[in-house]
Amino acid sequence: MKKYDVIIVGAGVIGSAIAYNLAEKNLKVLVLEKEEIGIGGSSRNGGGVRQSARKIEELPLAMYAVNNIWPTLDQKLGVNIEYHQEGNLRLGKTEAHRKILEKIVAEGKKQSLELDLLDKDEVKKICPYISDEVKYASYCPTDGHANPMKTTLGYYKKALELGVSFITGEEVESVLIEKAKIAGVKTKDNSYYSSKVILAAGYESKYIAASVGVNIPMRKLLVEVMVTEPRELMFDQMIGTAGSDFYGHQSEHGSFVFGGMTGNEPYKFDQKRRVTLERTAPSISRAILNYFPVLKDLNVIRTWSGFLDQTPDHLPILSKVEAIDNFYLACGFSGHGFGISPAVGELMADLVVEEEPALDLANFKYDRFHPKS
Ligand SMILES: Cc1cc2nc3c(=O)[nH]c(=O)nc-3n(C[C@H](O)[C@H](O)[C@H](O)COP(=O)(O)OP(=O)(O)OC[C@H]3O[C@@H](n4cnc5c(N)ncnc54)[C@H](O)[C@@H]3O)c2cc1C
Repeated sequence: MKKYDVIIVGAGVIGSAIAYNLAEKNLKVLVLEKEEIGIGGSSRNGGGVRQSARKIEELPLAMYAVNNIWPTLDQKLGVNIEYHQEGNLRLGKTEAHRKILEKIVAEGKKQSLELDLLDKDEVKKICPYISDEVKYASYCPTDGHANPMKTTLGYYKKALELGVSFITGEEVESVLIEKAKIAGVKTKDNSYYSSKVILAAGYESKYIAASVGVNIPMRKLLVEVMVTEPRELMFDQMIGTAGSDFYGHQSEHGSFVFGGMTGNEPYKFDQKRRVTLERTAPSISRAILNYFPVLKDLNVIRTWSGFLDQTPDHLPILSKVEAIDNFYLACGFSGHGFGISPAVGELMADLVVEEEPALDLANFKYDRFHPKS
């Protein structure tokens, strides 16, 4: 019977980044993936590597990733992950928008994030293609974007090179416990054994954890992204709006990748399959044209959807489960896990080998959801 030091369930960007960091510490690691590497949110997201407008608790994770990992990740992984650090503009037109942006700027500055409120002329200097109706923007020059698929596969490739085993098409059904300790995991046809188990299976972590009586409060939400035909390179910033009606950027190849929400997402009839709805792309497109009329003749060539794993406080769970020795959770990223994934990979690996993580993870403990006595 082969025994691993650590089994990770889920080969998204989070599972793959943790696997890479554990392999760097010379641990014997197995990653079990239900479908294909990166098939979940990790290959479907908008690629935003954003610190601005993060919740105050999560901001240190995002800043740590940007200050210490993203700029040199290409070299570490040996893959061009298309990381561009040209800033994030969050646009506003109205007085109500200005108030939202002022609050975002004040929150960021409290944590020493480089973040300013710009007026119309300053915004136009950075991105001349923006509508004349835009009057304000928050601007974080150290924000950026990267290619999510390449980043996920980059972590996977490097982890493989360092000796991590990956098995795809293997759906974990439950966690194995022997003598009150983690023993491994069980799939339909096989059992795999390890000293430690980490669930990094997005929303599905909830079902696997439930097999040992651990209740993770999360809901599943299907959201959409669309990509346009390519254009000459126009701007390199990540764009968002104070009203959160769309976000996106132009990729290295000239296509624009835009995402957004209609507000109807929780009420979609089907939260099981990755379907797209006929209303969503037009709704996102209308929002884009309000801010970038210059893009009016651009054709949308593809849309897709992916699931968010949303916790009640919209913060991730990066935690040991106190009640079960050697059982860990890395899930609940609530729609913003890509930007912090390099930090999560490093910090979770430290937690699992019982080294002091570079950042305090107390805000992300699983037991914060327990009823207070
Ligand atoms: C449309 C969209 C846009 C987004 N935009 C951004 C953005 O711009 N910036 C940002 O920071 N974040 C963004 N996100 C969020 C980001 O994509 C996620 O937070 C991040 O990818 C989470 O990675 P993960 O590895 O935890 O999850 P996933 O990529 O979902 O990986 C989980 C893996 O677990 C596997 N799995 C599930 N159940 C089992 C099982 N029983 N056994 C084995 N394997 C299993 C799945 O198949 C999957 O591969 C977006 C998400 C979506 C959907």
